[in-house]
Amino acid sequence: MKQQGVAVLGSTGSIGTATLRVIARHQARFRITALTASSNATLLREQAASVRPEYVGIANPNGDSDPAWGTGTDCLIAAAMRADVDIVVNAVVGTAGLPATLAALHAGKRVALANKESLVMGGDAVLRACAEGGGEIVPVDSEHSAILQCIGTRPLGEVRRIILTASGGPFREWDASRIASATIEDALNHPTWRMGRKISIDSATLVNKALEVIEAHYLFGLPYDRVDVVVHPQSIVHSFVEFIDGSVLAQVGFPDMELPILYALTHPHRIDDIAARAFDPSSASPLTFEPVDPERFPSFALGVAAGVRDGSAPAVFNAANEAAVKLFLSGRIGFGDIARAIASALAAIDGLPSVSVADLSAADLAARNHVIGWSRP
Ligand code: NAD
Ligand code: MG
Repeated sequence: MKQQGVAVLGSTGSIGTATLRVIARHQARFRITALTASSNATLLREQAASVRPEYVGIANPNGDSDPAWGTGTDCLIAAAMRADVDIVVNAVVGTAGLPATLAALHAGKRVALANKESLVMGGDAVLRACAEGGGEIVPVDSEHSAILQCIGTRPLGEVRRIILTASGGPFREWDASRIASATIEDALNHPTWRMGRKISIDSATLVNKALEVIEAHYLFGLPYDRVDVVVHPQSIVHSFVEFIDGSVLAQVGFPDMELPILYALTHPHRIDDIAARAFDPSSASPLTFEPVDPERFPSFALGVAAGVRDGSAPAVFNAANEAAVKLFLSGRIGFGDIARAIASALAAIDGLPSVSVADLSAADLAARNHVIGWSRP
């Protein structure tokens, strides 16, 4: 069996470090040939010493990087396009991941995509790159991995609807006024998943679930009225697929990103994983389900509406959120301001051209600038 070369973009993050753990258990099949990170040179150096890749890149070096490393934003593309790379694990956070997704798909690679923001900002462009270059997108996001596993080889015409599950985040049971004044610590305290800071805040606002609705629309080619969301606090059912004969399949397991990461590498095959924890239904029960409350989580509805509106709206929603989360995490706006900032950007920036990636970058920049201006009245 030929070993497949893997580039891990965002190797120092939550998904990146989990990917390194997964691949360490499967070295007969996979070899990491490229690693990139934003700025954590200490961890990147440690990873490089243990994995021994052919290429290391650091996008934003702070002076402590290695002279042999690639630098700057182009290092993600350089890593993704290498001839010794078959699979690109895109575990970068935010729209910084988009150019590498496009480059990898153009070059005909498999992209194991954790970076949902690239699909939300540039969905059509990403699908075009995939079709033109002969690449393949396999989701790492647990819900989308679940849906892919449930659909299997059945044609889209047999799928009536998909139902994404959402944990509901740390504020599922909080009332609106308490949510509006939540602290950074409250918002980072996710009940079922340990993740990077940005996606943790997105899970508290339910922006993450809106991004995932848009992600599912592009990945599975389903219109928005066939993508539903249900809150499931235990995070055991990773999503459902309802077929046209009324049968509903779910993919189930304890919450652990290492399974969807491994599956994104091996799809459509499954391989033995010694670290996989045996599933015990009695310790997973009870399983409960409830609707999303759009009153307490207004960003969710804004995001889904932006998806339905299409054009530049998903890019504006996504960039406004990224800017607002950054402001919240630096203590400059309150938690309740995130939804207000997004709503303000969507109202102010509408109908921009959205054909090319340059158009989308302009919409993205306009949304970020709008939110920064909005935060300084
Ligand atoms: P993280 O913050 O832990 O890690 C992000 C990684 O990206 C780091 O290695 C960082 O160095 C790198 N990075 C950040 N900005 C960069 C830039 N401008 N240029 C180059 N590299 C940059 O984030 P995470 O939790 O691992 O999430 C990564 C992606 O995976 C996100 O899109 C997130 O939505 C998605 N995701 C994460 C989880 C999870 O459990 N953590 C689950 C599903 C999806
Ligand atoms: Mg998810």
